[in-house]
Amino acid sequence: MGVSTLDQVIKKAEEHCNHPGAKLTPKRKNILILLLRSGSPLSAYELAERYQQQFHESVPPMSVYRMLDFLMTENLAHKLVSENKFIACSHIACSHQHQVPQFLICDHCNKVKEIAIGKDIIDALNINVTKAGYHLINHQLELHCLCDECSQTSAA
Ligand SMILES: [Zn+2]
Ligand SMILES: [Zn+2]
Ligand SMILES: [Zn+2]
Repeated sequence: MGVSTLDQVIKKAEEHCNHPGAKLTPKRKNILILLLRSGSPLSAYELAERYQQQFHESVPPMSVYRMLDFLMTENLAHKLVSENKFIACSHIACSHQHQVPQFLICDHCNKVKEIAIGKDIIDALNINVTKAGYHLINHQLELHCLCDECSQTSAA
């Protein structure tokens, strides 16, 4: 991500958090910057390590988790449950309402794409789950894929 784009996204994130109890503190902002700069999902420990390297300050993983919780509540970051790693939301600079995300994870290069799940798909999932006697509590989908680039490379 280019520097000017990063600045714009951070500015949007600050505006987004401009409501009571939701301040994007310098540390929370730094965590978000690390996620935005990273091309692939990061674990809390990787974030703590990078924080130390880039901002010359050590933050314990427990505080990293708390800052991530804040970023996730604000939909600025998401957790990939299947990987136990975190990524920045791809829609921070968008003006539309955040929708239930589904993540396309390339198993070859770890690139992750966040796209919205259509309401019809969520409805269909709900029906399936309810029929089986369960109640869906998390709609987020994580699909393991090959991205276009990697599928071309592996076909060659
Ligand atoms: Zn998102
Ligand atoms: Zn968007
Ligand atoms: Zn790939």
